[in-house]
Amino acid sequence: MSDADGKRLKVSDKMMIEIKGVNKWFGDFHVLKDVDLTVKEGERIVIAGPSGSGKSTLIRCINHLEPHDEGSIIIDGVELTEDLKRIDEVRREVGMVFQQFNLFPHMTVLENCTLAPLWVRKMPEKDARDLAMKFLERVRIPEQANKYPGQLSGGQQQRVAIARALCMNPKIMLFDEPTSALDPEMIKEVLDVMVELAQEGMTMLCVTHEMGFAREVANRVVFMDEGEIIEEAPPEEFFRAPKNARTKEFLAQIL
Ligand code: ADP
Ligand code: MG
Repeated sequence: MSDADGKRLKVSDKMMIEIKGVNKWFGDFHVLKDVDLTVKEGERIVIAGPSGSGKSTLIRCINHLEPHDEGSIIIDGVELTEDLKRIDEVRREVGMVFQQFNLFPHMTVLENCTLAPLWVRKMPEKDARDLAMKFLERVRIPEQANKYPGQLSGGQQQRVAIARALCMNPKIMLFDEPTSALDPEMIKEVLDVMVELAQEGMTMLCVTHEMGFAREVANRVVFMDEGEIIEEAPPEEFFRAPKNARTKEFLAQIL
């Protein structure tokens, strides 16, 4: 897909994620500093930045795996507060894929995928299995359905994790360095699945250092350093003419 194709992907005016004035501390450590970020339906945002800059914390706040201390986070019109019903409501709509896959090792691939549809969506067993197989086909590993995660390669496990998240029919997908734990030859098979998701119009927030992916599918690249969003720009501008000295330094290291 070329940049031109990428720009033709549909983005609606509907706000999916509204983060305003978010601050968070771990004890005395100020990990998120006045973070503002808005994401519209169908937008694909890449978050980059040095290790320890708060990228994981920020995306974990979006499904309340971490609570924020100040400011507001509104997901598809629902504000995240300590209200457990709302947290559940938001989590049902937000899929998350982690660096370390986080599959349940004692369950088969199929069972990993049907768990939430069965228990959270209360879906009949046959429907849940059909749904899981549909997504395992989409990530191109239906033949692995009855294996256990430990019998799969890292790339296959990560594709299961993506299929499992998709089984909840999420409105938003969050990715936290999904290819960082993979051997180089497996990175592409995971990125290919992510590119396809983007092309289908999924709203995505991806923490990744895969700048080829950012160029190909991102509407915006958000650069974080020391808990702050330092710079935010469309990829062509971000890579061609970064404004901030810290962004330039970061790009010099990774490109
Ligand atoms: P990134 O994903 O950009 O590498 P993180 O969001 O994981 O950064 O972490 C940001 C900072 O917050 C780091 O200095 C990290 O050590 C610290 N941190 C992360 N999680 C915790 C925690 N649960 N308790 C205390 N400090 C934490
Ligand atoms: Mg991280």
